[in-house]
Amino acid sequence: MDLAFTPEELAFRDEVREWVAAHLPKTISDKVHSAQRLTRDDMQGWAKTLGKKGWLGYGWPEQFGGPGWNAIQRHLFEEECAMAGAPRIVPFGPVMVAPVIMAFGSPEQQKRFLPGIASGEVWWSQGYSEPGSGSDLASVKTRAERVGDKYIVNGQKTWTTLGQYGDWMFNLVRTSTEGKPQTGISFLLLDMKSPGVTVRPIKLLDGECEVNEVFFDNVEVPADQLIGEENKGWTYAKYLLATNAPTSPTSTAPSANSSASSASRSKTACGTTCAFATRSRCWKWTSSRSR
Ligand SMILES: Cc1cc2nc3c(=O)[nH]c(=O)nc-3n(C[C@H](O)[C@H](O)[C@H](O)COP(=O)(O)OP(=O)(O)OC[C@H]3O[C@@H](n4cnc5c(N)ncnc54)[C@H](O)[C@@H]3O)c2cc1C
Repeated sequence: MDLAFTPEELAFRDEVREWVAAHLPKTISDKVHSAQRLTRDDMQGWAKTLGKKGWLGYGWPEQFGGPGWNAIQRHLFEEECAMAGAPRIVPFGPVMVAPVIMAFGSPEQQKRFLPGIASGEVWWSQGYSEPGSGSDLASVKTRAERVGDKYIVNGQKTWTTLGQYGDWMFNLVRTSTEGKPQTGISFLLLDMKSPGVTVRPIKLLDGECEVNEVFFDNVEVPADQLIGEENKGWTYAKYLLATNAPTSPTSTAPSANSSASSASRSKTACGTTCAFATRSRCWKWTSSRSR
């Protein structure tokens, strides 16, 4: 087996290398190479630079505005970015929620949300974990009650990474208490600037506030921000966990009982794509109890 890169792949690598060298600010690569903390502007500035080039959603298929790269191209891109000292891409938008919107969102939702993710303009947060609902994610209690054309959301999320910067949040919310816990969960997109949302930093041992508690007090969320069907959120949540790698948007949306769903049992949510914190810290999702 010949594992050497082809001339085309080497040319692609050189193109990426040159582009990154020309566009990555030295102030940022110096910070990454010396393991200093990155600011919001460092992370989002690089995201926007990639976005302008069409490379922030570098795993996205062309139909949604991605470059449509194959696995080797994605690997070369990641490698070149890492070697150059580029910040890792914050995964919540381009790597996590975007594939869910592509697979299960309506055409209107795709049109509304994907461009802001692809450009790096809109910062997304992940609203899965709650106090008492970490590994046992299906026990989420944050309640979303349908009233007319809105959901009224009450409850709390926790460990929300970089939630202090969040514009939008994808949330697992309880819309029913009937039957198994998994059958009463919905996947809701929520504007974090909505009245009733409070973000409270959690100070960690190193004094930094990378994670947050997020509280919802009668937050009104338009019903057209529900992904897919009400009470089917567990399927979408598992799809996100099972497929949150840059390759995910090209994979087929699974059914609730598919192998992709079962793969989520041991999958980390961020894989190798989330080390936006620069001190070799990379939080991992280790949800082990999808039933
Ligand atoms: C730095 C950091 C950032 C995070 N960022 C986010 C984020 O942005 N958004 C988000 O939604 N979540 C986030 N999380 C939450 C994270 O994914 C959860 O911490 C994780 O799901 C585990 O939940 P828990 O902390 O409540 O631990 P617990 O569920 O309380 O588990 C504690 C320990 O018990 C073990 N355990 C639990 N149940 C069982 C069982 N049945 N059998 C055997 N062992 C078991 C676990 O493996 C673990 O070792 C973050 C966490 C951290 C630490």
